Amino acid sequence: MSAAPAAPAASSAPVVVQKYGGTSVGDVERLQRVARRIADTHRAGNRVLAVVSAMGDTTDDLVGMAAAVNGRPPQRELDILLTSGERIAMSLLAMAVEALGVPARSFTGSQAGIITDAVHGKARIVDVTPQRVRDALDEGRVVIVAGFQGVSRDTKDITTLGRGGSDTTAVAMAAALDADVCEIHTDVDGVYTADPRLVPDARKLDRLSFEEMLELAAQGAKVLQVRSVEFGRNHGVRIHVRSSFNGSEGTWIVPQEDMVEDAIISGVAHDTSEAKVTVVGVPDRPGVAAGLFSALAGATINVDMIVQNVSSAGRTDISFTVPRGEVDEARELLAPRLGEIGAEDLVVDPAVAKVSLVGAGMKTHPGVAARMFTALSAAGVNIQMISTSTIRVSVVVADADVATAVRAVHDEFALAGDAVVAEQGAG
Ligand code: ADP
Ligand code: ASP
Ligand code: MG
Repeated sequence: MSAAPAAPAASSAPVVVQKYGGTSVGDVERLQRVARRIADTHRAGNRVLAVVSAMGDTTDDLVGMAAAVNGRPPQRELDILLTSGERIAMSLLAMAVEALGVPARSFTGSQAGIITDAVHGKARIVDVTPQRVRDALDEGRVVIVAGFQGVSRDTKDITTLGRGGSDTTAVAMAAALDADVCEIHTDVDGVYTADPRLVPDARKLDRLSFEEMLELAAQGAKVLQVRSVEFGRNHGVRIHVRSSFNGSEGTWIVPQEDMVEDAIISGVAHDTSEAKVTVVGVPDRPGVAAGLFSALAGATINVDMIVQNVSSAGRTDISFTVPRGEVDEARELLAPRLGEIGAEDLVVDPAVAKVSLVGAGMKTHPGVAARMFTALSAAGVNIQMISTSTIRVSVVVADADVATAVRAVHDEFALAGDAVVAEQGAG
């Protein structure tokens, strides 16, 4: 028996979007606890839209099963398969909320109006048409939306938004509904100065600018998917990252102008999801790099760091990093062109990690990179590649060194203790 619709929440009631990650709904008991939080938020007079991820390791398990039946699963089929994880969670969660006497309705991404481009596995949201969701909210129901998925307007096929994509579903729904807040409920208390699983004395940040969160997320701090931060910044969504297990205040992601103080360094991120590719013995002449990277771009392979060595005897090496999952494709694409390019060899090293230091105050404080490199060398960590932006310094190191490197950098900038704060208006 389903709960009778409650008196419709006034259409002026605040809209709260809450996203619950996989660990937060890891088993039936946890899912019921999430249902209670949702029901409580509804009863407190809010209109609630909850976005839910697949339970526990479901997505990984589905990826594993796909790989077992086909070494290269067709992307279209893989996407449909993966969205089923979130569909299980959404319907169970709606049932659990109804069991508490609060009317609820679940929707797939497609039903909720999440329209994407047609790039399977990493589709971008191009539009949100949330009429059914609005109607359900106007009927006084809690709405549950399956995260991480949408539908392509062109191909009509179901797409996924990339790993961690439920964050982006939540922020996109919050933008479309002009929600008061987008709460990202996860398994840590907020955004920390480093991954608290790697650095136990990492400190929780109360506030962080979109700019800094964008860098941290792009450099591997998977607490928020990078596209969710982009979306939030572009649409002015108030994002609150907090624990799904307790009620404590988490981390607010805010516009730069709302930062009370500028930390020189906000945090350290690490990423072990990339592989390094080196094209050896490339002739040092115009057009070679253009040819290499156009080929990769044509296959929508995301190239991250690029380093070209100084040439000797008219030849040079070009190294770059790509997602590990795309490295075979990159190799297959480039290997047949080596002759054409005039390169000698192609070497792949999957055992690398990227460690990045991020902070808006870096712009006005020289010497940060030097301190970071000195700390790494003191810890015995060899640097293979370097790249920088105005608010970031990144290095590629051996995979085996990642924990040592992150801790050394975190220690060097005293991120565990009191914040390193730049004076207001300095620079
Ligand atoms: P969810 O399933 O809720 O989406 P994720 O596993 O995607 O959760 O993201 C939360 C995880 O992100 C944390 O458990 C933590 O290990 C990791 N993480 C990495 N960097 C950070 C950071 N700087 N602050 C907080 N968590 C981080
Ligand atoms: N279930 C998907 C993943 O594991 C999406 C998400 O959790 O955000 O990546
Ligand atoms: Mg996540």
